[in-house]
Amino acid sequence: MIIDSHQHLPVRREGKTLADSRQELLHELGECKVDYAIVIPDNVPNSEIGSLDEVLDLVENEKRLFVMGTINIRKDKESHLLKLDRLFRTGRIVAIKIFPGHEPIYPTDRRLEPVYELCVKHDLPIVIHTGGRKQGKYNDPKFIVKICDRHPELKIVIAHYFFPRVEYCHEITRPYENIYFDTSALADDGVIAATGLQKIRDTLTLTARERPSNVVFGTDYAGCGIKNHIALIESLELSREIKERIFSKNSIQLFKLKLK
Ligand SMILES: [Zn+2]
Repeated sequence: MIIDSHQHLPVRREGKTLADSRQELLHELGECKVDYAIVIPDNVPNSEIGSLDEVLDLVENEKRLFVMGTINIRKDKESHLLKLDRLFRTGRIVAIKIFPGHEPIYPTDRRLEPVYELCVKHDLPIVIHTGGRKQGKYNDPKFIVKICDRHPELKIVIAHYFFPRVEYCHEITRPYENIYFDTSALADDGVIAATGLQKIRDTLTLTARERPSNVVFGTDYAGCGIKNHIALIESLELSREIKERIFSKNSIQLFKLKLK
């Protein structure tokens, strides 16, 4: 079984609707033999990849799709937190994602505290966008480990492994059992060119051997391809059992997915 724990709707093309984007995504899941996916909305309105409300509407009757909550702490009001709380309670979101780097905010920003507390309350993870040469300033794992120190019960998923500095990210996060990694974007040509394929493979292999429950499969589709991410995981020198954990079991546990 394959669960892609990090996807976005394809960018809405001219004259097309978000429902068309959803169909495109579902078609791609079929092509790549992916059984389930977690779709991450944007945290701004009128986005080409859909806002939280739009994505929630679109997946309503789609058994293969789950949704992550998103928040814009610079704009969203208190009521948005209440809404995320409700969505967690009713099982309509399986995590919350924040975008330091896309936005000029640091994970240690005090305005994020209630978001972390909400994740702890529901025992579901916060997913943090990381990496990139310029954006990395905002999402450096040195800030993320501070969040772990403040909230030892909080489960944190580092998306994109802080590329290109994957070895540094591995080293600094090593003592933290509640830090998880998704593999999204790591098979992307640009990310490989910036980081080095061997370094990516070595770091993922090491992480999965040390902490077999802490790596989850993700792709960053539609910005990135699904098949090359599957091939990346398959290329790692890991047992079938660990690969199965990465491809599906860890995600089911971490995001408490109720598969239908
Ligand atoms: Zn993404």
